[in-house]
Amino acid sequence: MTIKIFRGQNQIGGSIIEVSSDSTRIILDAGTELEEIEPAAPLIEGLFSGEASYDAAFISHYHGDHIGLCDKILPNIPIYIGKAAGAVTNAARKYMRKPEYSFAGYYEPGKPFTVGDLVLTPYLCDHSAFDAYMFHIACDGKSLLYTGDFRSHGRKSFHGLLKRLPSVDVLITEGTTLSRTPATPVTEGKLEQEAVRAISEYNGPVFVLMAATNIDRLVSMYKAARRTNRVLLQDLYLAAVSTAAGKSIPHPKDFSDIGVFLTNGADGRYEELQSYGEAKISRQNIAKLNFVMCVRPSMRTYIEKLSDLMPFDNGVLLYSLWEGYKENEDMATFLAFMQKKGVKVDSLHTSGHADSSTIDALIRKVQPTAIIPVHTEHSDWFDRYHDITIVKNQVFSF
Ligand SMILES: [Zn+2]
Ligand SMILES: [Zn+2]
Repeated sequence: MTIKIFRGQNQIGGSIIEVSSDSTRIILDAGTELEEIEPAAPLIEGLFSGEASYDAAFISHYHGDHIGLCDKILPNIPIYIGKAAGAVTNAARKYMRKPEYSFAGYYEPGKPFTVGDLVLTPYLCDHSAFDAYMFHIACDGKSLLYTGDFRSHGRKSFHGLLKRLPSVDVLITEGTTLSRTPATPVTEGKLEQEAVRAISEYNGPVFVLMAATNIDRLVSMYKAARRTNRVLLQDLYLAAVSTAAGKSIPHPKDFSDIGVFLTNGADGRYEELQSYGEAKISRQNIAKLNFVMCVRPSMRTYIEKLSDLMPFDNGVLLYSLWEGYKENEDMATFLAFMQKKGVKVDSLHTSGHADSSTIDALIRKVQPTAIIPVHTEHSDWFDRYHDITIVKNQVFSF
């Protein structure tokens, strides 16, 4: 097999990886670069331009830096993703009135998928995107594992995943957090407990700022709301995403303690709101409730009007995103606005990526003879593995 890292080797984001045998060529992820506003596909003949020369593309999860160029892939190359991941990403796109991605089909966890002489087996892993996978690929007695993005401190058992993973010749692994000083990340379960503690300290309104597609976090906040006897309020966008994620995920259609509200900017969405039946809730009724409301910076006008109906004293905003986003103008303005309303801002977040001891544990388990670091700015971290070839070239054959 030959591995070619088109993009995303010495940078975080924009991942595009080719895996080929003598007769088959596939692509793993087709992502945009982070902060790219008008994403343009790089010149990859046979994938984005010219005549299609790839047999399939497999997307590990729905973050833009892995899926964002999906719609630029030549139409006769079939694209595959996990079923729930496909549903979530297309629900989000539909809500934003963007064309839905067209997937040829869905791969399933643990079920081998054959393309020519390559056999790809997806392994469900934990990440801040829901339904994310690692890919094991075998051909002619050789094998590789591509991690996509993953972590060990979410709700899915990392130990269980390690037990299932076989040894491989080559490991292509993410190393997003390797620049950071080693520290044990807070688990998603611990974060839920901290949210309960934080919410219990306030008797005013509780707001949460989180990524709508971070389904693990949504589960944490839902549980924290329940444990503090508050109703979880989702806006129409979050409701569309959570409903698409599946029956067991807290969403307003089947969970009686979740309300859905319509913000000012949501023109022409009245019918969509009606589809939530009794779960829909007006601002006047929200003002009478004990709630945890999921918010975004774009909801300022709505929240301003809500503050005319109820006091915000003794309220809190749980900031559950990467700290770096606080530098963005929209975010800074929104946080200042909330503070001016008397709402305290409390940070409560944990990373979606593996810490260094998790990467060590993975390496120990799959025992590769070569490692290709990707999705990292610190591939030198792997040099500590003296008996493993650390590949820093773009192309590697084995
Ligand atoms: Zn990523
Ligand atoms: Zn990701």
